[in-house]
Amino acid sequence: MIDLRSDTVTRPTAAMKDAMMRAPVGDDVFDDDPTVHALQDFAAQRLGKEAGLFLASGTMSNLAGLMAHCGRGDEYLVSQNAHTFRYEAGGAAVLGSIQPQPLEPNGDGTIELGRIEAAIKPEDVHFARTRLLTLENTTGGRVLPQAYVEAATDLARHHGLGTHLDGARIFNASVAQGIDVREITRNFDTVSCCLSKGLGAPVGSVLVGPAELIERAHKWRKMLGGGWRQAGLLAAAGLHALEHHVERLSDDHANAERLAEALNRRDVFEATQHTNILWLKLNGRSAAELIEHFRAYGIQVTGRGDTLRLVTHLDVTSEDVDKVIEVADAF
Ligand SMILES: *Cc1c(COP(=O)(O)O)cnc(C)c1O
Repeated sequence: MIDLRSDTVTRPTAAMKDAMMRAPVGDDVFDDDPTVHALQDFAAQRLGKEAGLFLASGTMSNLAGLMAHCGRGDEYLVSQNAHTFRYEAGGAAVLGSIQPQPLEPNGDGTIELGRIEAAIKPEDVHFARTRLLTLENTTGGRVLPQAYVEAATDLARHHGLGTHLDGARIFNASVAQGIDVREITRNFDTVSCCLSKGLGAPVGSVLVGPAELIERAHKWRKMLGGGWRQAGLLAAAGLHALEHHVERLSDDHANAERLAEALNRRDVFEATQHTNILWLKLNGRSAAELIEHFRAYGIQVTGRGDTLRLVTHLDVTSEDVDKVIEVADAF
């Protein structure tokens, strides 16, 4: 099988399993798992922040982050296509008592600065207190322009707001731009990063930021049921991923780009590719038909409506891309 549904489908490599086997562990709820501490410290340093927290998922990491920034009746500004608004089951509102203020994004994933500014509410008994701006990078695979990241976070700070980055694929953004990841993260108070996507760990995310906010998030993590015991087994995989699987993300980007170029040579396909994610529209044929065609040749993709999503990752080789191109050509 060639699985292009998501970069979450990767299996731990032999070297990663080895690192997991060798990891010293403790009880992380007693705060004495050395491998969890090693991961949290390394992630914080790698992402240019004071402290880090290891959590079960990106959803939990974003939620604990939002809850560290915002209290009951506070509000966060967010793109209405963002994961933290649309794909996290309303957790900020339901569990955090935080009101989302969703904003319409532009086609490139940015939100007009004027639109952000207009949504910041003044002190008034009628309004929720606007506390936080959250951005997402990459978003739908797109890298947010660095000048935009700086302008949007400057604007937020100017209005006294906190800033949170859903950086589920932050290393894809850094590698694609050829810049140190800290250039991106330094604009934000807190950053959430998935270890279980392109980086290839089986489970987990890290939240990084100032020690005070991370300590608060730690308490929320416990309340959310996210206290875990010999979590060092999983932290070892995350540490291995951060140490060995960052630079190679450029292979995924090159594979996705080559696939998009090949598909676009045929009139029936209209591929748009950013970093490791390729969106595919069909001219005059149905997406469901293509999904079936791929399935018959052992290739898995997903679709939403008339658009398919193909994602490259650690377990998709250059030869796999050759095969996908060959099968697509036979459609
Ligand atoms: C996957 C993803 C998340 C959530 O991660 P999970 O580990 O699946 O909960 C958050 N934000 C973005 C942009 C994502 O792609």
